[in-house]
Amino acid sequence: MKEYDVMIIGGGASGLASAISSARKGAKTAIAERLPRVGKKLLVTGNGRCNFSNASLKRKNYHGTNSAFVGYVFSQFNGSQIVEFFDELGILSKEEENGRIFPRCDQAGAVLDVLRYECNRLGVDELCSQEVEEIQKLQDSFAIKTHDGEDLHSKKIIITTGGKASPQLGSDGSGFALAQKLGHTIIEPYPSLVQIKLDDDFLKHLKGIRSDARVSLYVNENLIDTQEGEILFADYGISGIPILQLSRYVHHPELKDTSMKLHVDIFPETLFHDLKKMLVERFLKLSFKSVEEAMIGLINKRMIRPTLALAGIEKARRSSELNSADIEKLTQQLKDRRFVIKGTLSWRDAQVTAGGVATAEVDDRSLESKLVPGIYFAGEVLDIHGDSGGYNLAWAWASGYIAGLHAAESLKVKKKFLKK
Ligand SMILES: Cc1cc2nc3c(=O)[nH]c(=O)nc-3n(C[C@H](O)[C@H](O)[C@H](O)COP(=O)(O)OP(=O)(O)OC[C@H]3O[C@@H](n4cnc5c(N)ncnc54)[C@H](O)[C@@H]3O)c2cc1C
Repeated sequence: MKEYDVMIIGGGASGLASAISSARKGAKTAIAERLPRVGKKLLVTGNGRCNFSNASLKRKNYHGTNSAFVGYVFSQFNGSQIVEFFDELGILSKEEENGRIFPRCDQAGAVLDVLRYECNRLGVDELCSQEVEEIQKLQDSFAIKTHDGEDLHSKKIIITTGGKASPQLGSDGSGFALAQKLGHTIIEPYPSLVQIKLDDDFLKHLKGIRSDARVSLYVNENLIDTQEGEILFADYGISGIPILQLSRYVHHPELKDTSMKLHVDIFPETLFHDLKKMLVERFLKLSFKSVEEAMIGLINKRMIRPTLALAGIEKARRSSELNSADIEKLTQQLKDRRFVIKGTLSWRDAQVTAGGVATAEVDDRSLESKLVPGIYFAGEVLDIHGDSGGYNLAWAWASGYIAGLHAAESLKVKKKFLKK
């Protein structure tokens, strides 16, 4: 039997941060990880570059039943402290567009390496290929049963098992089962930051097309959210950062059985009226061409035919023949092309999990369970998820670090008390 002060279940971003803060406080710490190595998911974050935080961590960038839950954690470990934490470990950082923070060397592997070296230096036991299947509350500690039948005991436990997104990288939702067995409520998990599937006859023509766009999500004809950036069409639908951001509404429990549409504006920089005027001038200038030919150089060639078809304009017509109503319809298709949403890609493709362990049952200062003292939660296993842009890893580091700190400090308080 192995005995620890603090046992961390899950060696992802939040688990590694928990292990470091716990061990720095002098607690005998171990990480149990179901995969043969810790940090597998970290290696693929930010397309292998690891967008590890954001320069502006605001509550509005976080979502869940109670997104205010993140406030206390970030007040104890804020964005500057995250950057300093990595700086001390040797990671020089740089800020890119929209406050996204990356390691200057652009290597997620470097981020994982420094975390592992620090765990090693602090004497953290990495127990890999150990899937935790059960946590039993004993009088003053916990017994942890792993898939291999390993017998582990620990005074405190931090559950950092992640959610269900990208199970091929380790997080298969088993942490929810562990939390549930301990009496915790799980807010229905659903995939977020995931590509959106569209119901559209022209997708095969659009596949592979990239465009800057403003994309608005409508639910039952009501505008819910708008995002801007590069989009990419695919045979199943659409992806790109604005789409990932909007995907969190698609399976939202309160929006079940609604009709959802994306309105795509591929000329976000031009007002409707100005675009219409530009088209009038263009067709006048190119009056000797067919409308299809006159559109070449304006939008992606493969978009021309579907756009004309949807505007009800015969592609062979002379551009000089178009009347004001035709150009109005064409402008409409360029500024407000509508797509019916039919779902998202699966958990395998999702970057994060919405839903998770109910935050109402967890203390927002220490991240200790209000139901089972001695159990802590951090990272994506909680009902908190962030926008794309480094917010999810920032949450994982901050919540992980804080949970590890409080778990280890609570032991010290106890030891001091016993000495007296
Ligand atoms: C492709 C991709 C790209 C991403 N890019 C970014 C990015 O650039 N920036 C950003 O902020 N966020 C990004 N994210 C999201 C971010 O990676 C996660 O939010 C973050 O890793 C969550 O950290 P975590 O420690 O809570 O969970 P995870 O990183 O999922 O770690 C959980 C760990 O627990 C282990 N585990 C699970 N169950 C058990 C069990 N029963 N016993 C033992 N071990 C268990 C798993 O194997 C895993 O190693 C990306 C996600 C994906 C999938």
